[in-house]
Amino acid sequence: MANVLYDALLAVHKTNDKTFLRLNDQQQISYRDLITLAATYSALLTALGAKANDRVAVQVDKSAEAIALYAACLQTGCVFLPLNTAYTASEVEYFISDAKPTVLVCDNRAEQSLTPIAESQNCSVVTLNADGSGSLQQRASELAPATRVQERGDDDLAAILYTSGTTGRSKGAMLSHRNLLSNTITLVDYWQITDADVLLHGLPIYHTHGLFVATNTMLKAGASCIFLPAYNTDDFIKYLPQATVMMGVPTFYTRLLADDRLNKTLVSQMRLFISGSAPLLAETHEAFEQLTGHRILERYGMTETNMNTSNPYSGERRAGTVGFALPGVDVRIVDPETNNILSTDEIGVLEVRGENVFKGYWQMPEKTAQEFKPDGFFITGDLARQDSNGYLHIVGRDKDLIISGGFNVYPKEIELVLDDHTDILESAVVAAPHPDFGEAVVAVLVPAEGRTIDLDSVKVAAAERLAKFKQPKKYIVLNTLPRNTMGKVQKNILRDQVLDSFT
Ligand code: AMP
Repeated sequence: MANVLYDALLAVHKTNDKTFLRLNDQQQISYRDLITLAATYSALLTALGAKANDRVAVQVDKSAEAIALYAACLQTGCVFLPLNTAYTASEVEYFISDAKPTVLVCDNRAEQSLTPIAESQNCSVVTLNADGSGSLQQRASELAPATRVQERGDDDLAAILYTSGTTGRSKGAMLSHRNLLSNTITLVDYWQITDADVLLHGLPIYHTHGLFVATNTMLKAGASCIFLPAYNTDDFIKYLPQATVMMGVPTFYTRLLADDRLNKTLVSQMRLFISGSAPLLAETHEAFEQLTGHRILERYGMTETNMNTSNPYSGERRAGTVGFALPGVDVRIVDPETNNILSTDEIGVLEVRGENVFKGYWQMPEKTAQEFKPDGFFITGDLARQDSNGYLHIVGRDKDLIISGGFNVYPKEIELVLDDHTDILESAVVAAPHPDFGEAVVAVLVPAEGRTIDLDSVKVAAAERLAKFKQPKKYIVLNTLPRNTMGKVQKNILRDQVLDSFT
């Protein structure tokens, strides 16, 4: 009997006593122990009535046991449904009523508020706390580890990940065994990950980056992870010398750069630094190289598609770009109005196709149909251009596009100009309603360390490099930009703040 992901990521390591997760200086869990633990959880899932295709919703802190639970879902043929730990009970209520899981795993603190919600949907609740304790562990330990591995084919669902959705309801992206395994194999090969690697893992595991990009690739390669509960600069500085690979969101890199303990010696044995989930400023890329000698490899993906593009491992990693389409992934840039495929340097919507692309949104056939073209391309909603050397540049989300006086303004183009100013650390450009122009460009600026922004000189610099309609009509200075846990700037929050700027 075959089970596509379980066989490739777990069964191959059944008798492997190598450490998979290092939890701190004393505690670790081997591949063999992880698989045994998963088998006891699988026995409990079955005892709770979970069958193949049933959803198992999981809102827990990052722990080795949470990874074992993911493995248990694969073994049992269940659909793993991780939820951001920041979601409140009323948000979780939506996910439960939408996905109708058979089992909900949450921590002790949330048990009381979530139990009535789960029970009203005939969903059993077990608990798993950050330290591994809880009723999951206790009840599973009373059962014999399951020996049965549920048969699962390429097209069977392995996971549903809800998109963060800044507008409208969050959508459940259905990811099949093939979607996840094909991307894992591609990334292991492209980034040359081997069993000699040690990944410094500080990402959350309810998101595609920390769960699939980071964890699946290490499992596939038989590598190890230094598995930290979250990003923390002190821990990263401590463990960097013991790692060979780091995967992070851009804020990990800016925070490391702000610490004077980061230097060449600290990272002398590192093989690869990878960044994704949000744009990495070219300046960060350059500053990191200057200080450490390493060129960060930036890649681009999304929950619905896994990873689509990457800078090359051996070739030139270009700052401010997301590289080339990964092997097996087709990309094209399309004019959303005419549907014509655009040529070099023209900005349009990025569309992708490949085994990595998800099966659709959970119980939203109409929404799914809208997002796919008849020839199988998925409309990412990201605006992009391809330069004359073939490197892809992400220019922003299409919903962030500003139309001022009938002209298209791409926020990224303005942000790049503003970021070049010596007084400015970073910027975010959004639209505000304008009685005359429809929308007007508003720039939110964050000062560089120790500087006060001289707005007159910023305006002069903008006027030198940008057409009049692209120049911000209003500037706001903030200490930091609002960001979510994946480092993405929350432009919806900024848009709300500037709503009344011109009325
Ligand atoms: P998520 O589904 O949370 O992974 O978010 C996916 C979105 O993050 C993409 O559609 C992009 O808008 C953005 N994103 C991911 N990686 C990058 C990157 N390297 N540069 C710019 N934007 C990125």
